[in-house]
Amino acid sequence: MPAGGSPEVIVIGAGLGGLCAAYELARNDVRVLILERHNLPGGFSTSFIRGRFEFETSLHELSGGAAYAYLKDSELDLEFLKVPEAYRLMLTEKNVDFRAPFGMEEFINAVIDAVPGSEGPVRDFMRVCEESFNAFTYLGETSPPDPRVLLRKFGNFIRTGAATTDEVADAVKLPEAARDLIYPYWCYLGVSTKRISFSLWASMIYSYLKFGAYIPKGRSHAFSASFAKGIVNAGGEIRYNAEVTRINTEGGCVTGVILASGERIDCQRIVSNISPHRIFGSLMKPIEVPEKALRMVNARQPGFSFVVVFLGLDADRESLGLTDYSYFISPHMDTVRLEESLKNRHDPNPMQAAICLNAADDSASPPGTTILSITAGTHPDAWQDIDSWDYPRAKRDFAELLINQFEKATGTNIRSHIEELEIAAPPTFSRYTASWNGTVYGYEPEPWDGIIPRVLAENRENFLKGLRFCGGNASRTYGFGSSMLSGKTAADKTLAEMKA
Ligand SMILES: Cc1cc2nc3c(=O)[nH]c(=O)nc-3n(C[C@H](O)[C@H](O)[C@H](O)COP(=O)(O)OP(=O)(O)OC[C@H]3O[C@@H](n4cnc5c(N)ncnc54)[C@H](O)[C@@H]3O)c2cc1C
Repeated sequence: MPAGGSPEVIVIGAGLGGLCAAYELARNDVRVLILERHNLPGGFSTSFIRGRFEFETSLHELSGGAAYAYLKDSELDLEFLKVPEAYRLMLTEKNVDFRAPFGMEEFINAVIDAVPGSEGPVRDFMRVCEESFNAFTYLGETSPPDPRVLLRKFGNFIRTGAATTDEVADAVKLPEAARDLIYPYWCYLGVSTKRISFSLWASMIYSYLKFGAYIPKGRSHAFSASFAKGIVNAGGEIRYNAEVTRINTEGGCVTGVILASGERIDCQRIVSNISPHRIFGSLMKPIEVPEKALRMVNARQPGFSFVVVFLGLDADRESLGLTDYSYFISPHMDTVRLEESLKNRHDPNPMQAAICLNAADDSASPPGTTILSITAGTHPDAWQDIDSWDYPRAKRDFAELLINQFEKATGTNIRSHIEELEIAAPPTFSRYTASWNGTVYGYEPEPWDGIIPRVLAENRENFLKGLRFCGGNASRTYGFGSSMLSGKTAADKTLAEMKA
């Protein structure tokens, strides 16, 4: 138990959301206990070792926006490395090879140079993105927000609140060739630009392009390890190998948890870093689940997942010709067709996002070696037809396809330099983090379920007294930054409630 007796708050899950919530609570002298089923902290935010390589499990980049500022201001022991450029985009059916720099003006100029005559619509589009970002900043800093300020200063934000990204691009008459160059970050959200909430998408790309991006030295495990250390130093407790199998409730209030070991821990306040699907679907007695909670869970659409090929290569990146950090490689940038292809494991030409870690961190692997990871989106349903005998072959086939696609687009020879190879697929993510169906991206943020409606509905969605959610499945949606900051929000709200 945390110093001073039984816990005042239990956090289920030591992903980034749970860790940040517990860190903030412990720093405010709350007796907090994290229960984590795995034997180390972090959830997706971790690393693993094969041979002489330590691989980054998930993080491509953390934008230099709010979460980065929070981490820099915190007392956590973290060292950051700057990601050198936004991305190199290769659209193989369209002969596009485009390097996108960070910096809003630099990015706009690069697009305008590549697509002559597009300056007006590109600037208009980016201006609306900036307004969305600024409006979110205002909403985050002001409680309650003044509707007159919102209308006066952020009219476009209000007007585009229910719009998709394509609808805004149509409204400013953004040419297709410019969309091709601006849209690639769609794969970080996993929902096509025809469906994705514009305000969320806009604020994501603005944040990356305006503030650049970072990775921590020591892989994303450094985030998790420094939070865990901070929690323990502040008097909190983390228990590993402690899977919560039941949440107890009484009269609509949470009363505690039961662990897989059978141990019961009583507590009136729970912050859940695991999904509402799991909480209401399998951790509570069906009779105790509020009907509205079930309706909410059934209405939301779980997001997609990934296949990741982790490669430890026996040559340095210069000799391999790996000039860039972040590669987006795709036949085209029709996000509707690309989204459709996520459902087909056999699609011969998917979109991939490859990262050469050494391009941001030259000490990422031993001298004379390189780490390359290739990631492609996939729908968990695309893996349902495979039995356990076929699973290794299915993963290998997918990996072959991605390596071939990378080599062909970049003109490099990777295959003959592979020293270590590991492949992750939806069942891998499900096994290591118990994520629902192996999804890595919470719930899909369509306009009806984007950040604004979720935040507005948050109080009405507190179906059980004492239960809050944080992490990728919560109001701020997914990603490293959002998951972390949602933990801070959950802690702030819990603290306010405890003081009331
Ligand atoms: C390959 C990949 C690449 C990614 N790239 C990026 C990127 O570049 N940028 C970005 O912003 N985001 C990226 N993401 C997304 C990002 O990693 C996640 O959105 C974020 O880490 C989710 O954090 P979370 O707080 O939801 O916790 P999770 O990571 O989901 O952790 C939940 C924790 O709860 C534990 N748990 C589950 N059930 C129980 C139980 N019953 N009892 C106790 N503990 C339990 C799990 O073991 C786990 O530790 C990527 C993800 C993946 C997989």
